Order: sequence, then C-alpha cells, then structure tokens
Amino acid sequence: MSTINELFGSMVFNEAVMQQRLPGKIYGELRSAMAEGTRLSPEAADVIASAMKDWAIEKGATHFTHWFQPMTGITAEKHDSFLAPSGDGVTMELTGKELIQGEPDASSFPSGGLRASFEARGYTAWDPTSYAFIKDGVLCIPTAFCSYGGEALDKKTPLLRSMEALNTQGLRILRLFGDKESKTVKATVGAEQEYFLVDKSVYDCRKDLIYTGRTLFGALPPKGQELADHYSGTIKPRVAEFMRDLDEELWSLGIMAKTEHNEAAPAQHELAPIFTTANIAADHNQLTMEIMKKVARRYDMVCLLHEKPFEGVNGSGKHNNWSLCTDTGINLLDPGDTPEENARFLLFFCAVLQAVDDYQDLLRLSVSSASNDCRTCGANEAPPAIISMYIGEEMDEVLSSIENDRDFGMKSREEFKIGVHALPKFPKDTTDRNRTSPFCFTGNKFEFRMPGSMQSISGPNVVLNTAVAESLCKYADVLEKADNFEQELHALLKNVISGHRRIIFNGNNYGSDWEQEAKKRGLLNMKSLPDCAPCYLAPKNVELFRKYRIYSEAEIRARVEIKLSSYSKIVNIEALTMLNMARREILPAVSRFAGKLSETANAKLSLSASSGKNISCGYELALASEISELTDKAYILADSLGEAVKEAQKISDAFELARYYCDNVLAAMRELRIATDRLERLTDREEWPIPAYGDILFSVD
Ligand code: ADP
Ligand code: MG
Repeated sequence: MSTINELFGSMVFNEAVMQQRLPGKIYGELRSAMAEGTRLSPEAADVIASAMKDWAIEKGATHFTHWFQPMTGITAEKHDSFLAPSGDGVTMELTGKELIQGEPDASSFPSGGLRASFEARGYTAWDPTSYAFIKDGVLCIPTAFCSYGGEALDKKTPLLRSMEALNTQGLRILRLFGDKESKTVKATVGAEQEYFLVDKSVYDCRKDLIYTGRTLFGALPPKGQELADHYSGTIKPRVAEFMRDLDEELWSLGIMAKTEHNEAAPAQHELAPIFTTANIAADHNQLTMEIMKKVARRYDMVCLLHEKPFEGVNGSGKHNNWSLCTDTGINLLDPGDTPEENARFLLFFCAVLQAVDDYQDLLRLSVSSASNDCRTCGANEAPPAIISMYIGEEMDEVLSSIENDRDFGMKSREEFKIGVHALPKFPKDTTDRNRTSPFCFTGNKFEFRMPGSMQSISGPNVVLNTAVAESLCKYADVLEKADNFEQELHALLKNVISGHRRIIFNGNNYGSDWEQEAKKRGLLNMKSLPDCAPCYLAPKNVELFRKYRIYSEAEIRARVEIKLSSYSKIVNIEALTMLNMARREILPAVSRFAGKLSETANAKLSLSASSGKNISCGYELALASEISELTDKAYILADSLGEAVKEAQKISDAFELARYYCDNVLAAMRELRIATDRLERLTDREEWPIPAYGDILFSVD
C-alpha cells in the first residue's frame, strides 16, 4: 500500500465499496436500513451477502464470523468457512440468511440467568449500521447478540436502543426550535485509550501479570513518574515502530487513529481516534484494544490494558468524549453563532447537567469493576469516586446569570450577542481544562473520564444516552405545550440550573475538602462495585431503562448478577494468584536468602574462633533476623488470606459475596502485600524471584 488514502478502510465493506458493488436499488435499500433502521428484504440480503463474500475472497478471506460483544466485555467470534458443497466439488457461499442471523454455540457466555441451559443458544443479528470488515483472513460481520426471548445478551443491543431513545427525544427538541430538516440525532464518541507496554521477557516471569493483568506485589522503584519526563516525551524507537504498525492496521479497518503519545507513567501511552457515531466508536474501541495486544507481540512486548497494572504510578483510563450530532452536521453541544443556536445549545447543555445529577449513581456504576475500582477510589490520579461536572468559570457565570436574571458580564472573551429574550450573552470558547474532574465540558463536547482502560465504552454510553434522552423528554413535554416558547424555555433553564447546580464543581477533585463538600451537597460517593451495584435496581433506574426499552427488569437483574459475579471471580483469581506466588516463589526465596545470611554469619563466626580475630557479622545477623521475622509474618498473612478465600465459598448471595471479597479478601491481600514489599526492599536482587517494578516499568528501551 503506498498512501494512507489507499490503505484507509481497505479492509472495510464501506460506503464506497457498497456503492461500487451493489445494484442501485439494493444499495438504496441498505442505505435506508442503515439510516432509518428499516428492514431488508430477503432478496436484498442475498445480494448483499454475495457481494460481501466476493469482496472478502478477493481480499484473501476464507471464513466469515458474526462478530459480537457478549457481557464478558470483550468480543467473540466463531469462524465458518465460505465452503459449501456443489456437485462433485465445492463452492464459496454466503447467503442472506447467514449474513442476517447466526446461532453461535454460545452457551458458556454469561447471561445472568436469562438463558436456561436447554435454550442455551442465543442468536446474533446483523447490525448494518456498523460496516463489515476483514480481520486476519476472516470476514467479520458486526452483530447484536440476543436470547430467543429477545433479551439482550450483549453490550451492543442496549447501546443501539439507547441511541434510538436519544434520537427520538432529540428530534422532538429540534422541531421545537423550528428545525425541520434534521432526520437523526446521534451520540458521537471519541474514546482516548491509555495502555502500558512492557517487554515480554519480564512479563513472562510475573504470574500476576499473566493471570490477572496487574502486579499484586512490588515495591516502588527509586524513580517513578515524578520527573514528568515520560509524559509526551520522545517516543522510543521500538514503541514508535509499534505505533506505526498499529496505526496502519487500524487505518486499514477504517479506524481513525489520530494521536499517539507517551502518558504520565513510565511505559504508559495513549491513542486517540477521531470521534464517530457511538456504536461504531464502541466497535472500533474493542478492535483497537484487540489489535494493540496483537501488534505489541510482534515487537516482543505485551500491551497491558488493566486500569492499574502498577501501584504507585498512574493507572489507565479511557476518556469518553461525548456529544450529539445531527445528520445535517450540527454539533448540538456547540454554542453556535446565532441567538437560536445559543438557546438550543443551552437546552442541550442543561439536559446533560440534569442527566449527570439525576443518574450519578448509574454513571458511577457503569464504570465500576474489580479492575477499575483499583484506580477510582480517590487515588491521586484518576478522578475520585464522586461524580461531579466541571464546566469552567465562564459557563458557570452564564448559568448564574440565567438563574439570577442577571446580564452576563464576562468581558475578556469574545461574546455573542444573544437576541433571544432574557437569555444572556455567553462566551464562545470554554476549553479550559480541569484534569481532576470526572466529567468536563470542553467547549463543544463532554469528556467523561472515569471509564477504565479495559472496559467496553458501551455501558457508560448507554447510561449517558438514556439519561440525556430522559432530560430531553421532560423538556419536550413542557415546551411542546408552551404558549410562549421563549418565556417557557427561560423558566425551564432557570429551574434546571438551580435544581442541579450541586453537581457542578470547578475546583480540585483530588483535594481532601471536596469529599466533605460533596457530602454536604448530597452527592454520592461510592467507592467500590459492591457499594454501587444495588443502585441498578433502584426504582427510578429500573423505570428509566424500562421507559426507553433499554433493559427490562429481567435484563437489569441479569446484568447486576453478571457484574457482581465477575467482580467476585476476579478478586478470587487475584487472591489465589497471590497465594501461589507468595507460597511458591517469594517465601521460599526469602527463606533461602536468610539461610545464606546465616551461613555467612556462621562462617564468619567459626573463622573468628579459629583465627582469634573478631570478624563482625552484625549486618548478616540483623538482616537475617529482620527477614525471618517478616517472613513469619508474611507466612501468617498468607494463611489468613487463604482462610478468607475459603470462607468466601460459603456465601451464596451475590451481593454479600462481592461485599465479602471487597471488605475481607482485598483487605487481606493488601496486608500480605505490605509485608512482602518490605521483604523485597531487604532482599538481594539476585535472590528475589520475580522482576522488580523498575525492571518492568523501564523494560522497553
Ligand atoms: P484531549 O482531551 O487529549 O485534549 P482532544 O480535544 O483532541 O483531546 O479530543 C479528544 C477526543 O475528543 C478525540 O478523540 C476527538 O475526536 C474527540 N472529539 C472531538 N469532538 C468530538 C465530538 N463532537 N463528539 C465526540 N468526540 C469528540
Ligand atoms: Mg482527554
């Protein structure tokens, strides 16, 4: 491939390919299925399937798969070859039926009890709004995954449903502003992806990285990220080559990888794509994570996507940049130039303000997991567990002036003259950043910064889309009945601002006083998944999801069940890995080292005796004694952890079990780690059985 233009999307059955390869009528049918969600006729499906297959075979593909996103959070695929018998030989085939619907043998995926084993086979249904693509010689057809009863068993179906809700309510508002042209309102998302790269040779020596994706032991190295010399620093040649290779793979799949840079921690990097429609962004982000891992291996590196692979240095997140866009190209969170645009912007802005306040519990829950909880419990890096919104001083001033019927008086920035009665002028640009805020307005979009690096972005976007749809629905209900639109709009904005002002916080989210202040404001502060899981079932939340047909109550119950059980399973695996490493690697090593010290001391003592010279062995004795004491302690702490894990087996209630893992097992793990990390600091590096933090964090040269 010579140019980016030729490379870009070359493995995607995209608009251009469809137009070129499909008869006009069929192309038209597919277009309207994509744009308006209409059903395809079986004949059209056959023609599209056949064209897709011919195109894929020309590109070297031999198999196809329905590519879907079960609730494990990663993607799944089952490959079928195009092979079909024909006379005495074979032919290559893909039928419309095979394109539209599949039945993966998927009985092992979590369903939270939605699927009894006798009806284990969920089915996959083609999502024509996300293009098919070729990956490793396989034609991948993006699909949704449902049970026979129609219950969603995946991450994509609810996302599509939430986008539909947002579209319906967004259009109601646009009509009120006299917009007759826009046919759709879609959520747009740009997901910035953080990750670590470490050398494969050190990774292979750490069972914790292999089994759990994070280090469970490890004393801090003398140098971490304090010099800020890694952040946006020069990219090392091996990493630069990886990034180039990665970009090319992503581009060929039509993924607009745009920015690549070094992040705050040593070995940490970030990739940002250009934003796109939310469901496509979700598909693309899943692919990006998968391909990052694959490409890293080519360079003898391993890509770590865990939210907190290393204690004491920055963890990885996934900033979810979110806005609303019409098919006519309007960004509804852009303040705009005209008074009408300003007013419309304010309404959509307030809809987000209210949504974030009303559904802070769901937003928090949507980013909670065993791994992301390691990052979001108030450590001095990621946003704390309290959801609040940063809007910048000027937007704050604008909202205050509406709330208090004052003129808006910021002088320094360009101001729009707003003609709509009683609405103030306000600044065009509020791109100031507050890096400590979990949810920021950044001029023409919001940035939700709590999602974890490993998570699918579907969950947080389902909540955002649905909660904003609900605000918009409330506003449309009022405004559609208004006699005087401008007056009613003004009153409504005023109400929303004063009712939800508490969620706005422009200060330092890491400050210790924020927690106190947030408590006074009545904001939630849920530190772990077991804290926030019950809120899924709060009547207001069940009602929200039911109203917009995102999840039935049964689907919500299934999802809570899956979240809780995956939390407990992950902590259990971590605890067992820790025990294994402590008992079979670390304790034997430190005991050997204490033995060596004792031998040396003995040798010195007998030499003293035989030579009559006093050879001191203070170092050996003191160290052997300290190490032995700590070793005993670690041995006992490992036993307590073992006991805690055993106790857990007796608990059957999912909520109680997750709570137990959080309060007891994680606590026992922390204790054990403190003892072993102290041992690491005292032990000869030659004797320490696993690579140290410094060896891992600075392993890629
Ligand atoms: P940073 O947060 O690193 O300063 P940028 O301002 O460049 O980054 O944007 C971050 C991400 O926001 C990019 O992925 C970009 O495509 C995305 N983005 C920009 N505009 C929108 C929008 N209207 N909707 C959704 N995402 C957007
Ligand atoms: Mg960002």
